[in-house]
Amino acid sequence: MSIKNNVMSIREQIYASAKKSARDPSEIKLIGVTKTVGTSQIKELLAAGITEIGENRVQDFLPKYEFFSQESEMRPREWHFIGHLQRNKVKYIIDKVDLIHSVDSIQLAEEINRRAKQAGKIVKILAEVNISGESSKFGIPPSEILKFAENLANMRAVSLCGLMCMAPFVENPEENRVFFTKMRKLNVDIQTECLYDTRMVELSMGMSNDFSIAIEEGATIIRIGTALFN
Ligand SMILES: *Cc1c(COP(=O)(O)O)cnc(C)c1O
Repeated sequence: MSIKNNVMSIREQIYASAKKSARDPSEIKLIGVTKTVGTSQIKELLAAGITEIGENRVQDFLPKYEFFSQESEMRPREWHFIGHLQRNKVKYIIDKVDLIHSVDSIQLAEEINRRAKQAGKIVKILAEVNISGESSKFGIPPSEILKFAENLANMRAVSLCGLMCMAPFVENPEENRVFFTKMRKLNVDIQTECLYDTRMVELSMGMSNDFSIAIEEGATIIRIGTALFN
């Protein structure tokens, strides 16, 4: 299978899941997760129309970002950081990322705020939720997410736009529906409980294995790796 064919097939599935849940397919953003591939495959992805790229490690993100800032013909439209981010590495990506999906502590949010101020920009972030409670997973426990959102109120250089999760790896993606439903409810809770101006519009959830279910439950961003490159 070529990348182009994979993109077409994923687009069809997005369309079908959106229709099934009476949603507009154009409101679902597909992020190509390129952590396992190099720049030539990223170029193929761009040529196939996927221009939003996600990386999960700073040391992989930087060389790819540099490559495409020099490449004049084709470059990603947006760069997403989706992996666990150490505080001491925030400074390397702060002026390069469009959205950080994986903010999992108040300390990390504070560092992003500090660096964003220095860079003179407002950085969009998502709060990563450990929705399944697995001990192997990063993320804020659902019971603490409201407090986390409230703590962000006085950080002027970060903008909380929604929530992100990684659901468990399961044989039958139906099993993850319950987690995606919980995510959507949490997003609404934050929107209604927090008095300050929080626009919780994004739900980054759904990967190769379970994105159809995630879309049915309200995902606005899906993060796809394996299904693009296999
Ligand atoms: C690797 C990765 C993905 C993509 O997973 P696939 O199952 O390959 O689609 C999505 N999100 C994060 C945070 C990842 O690290």
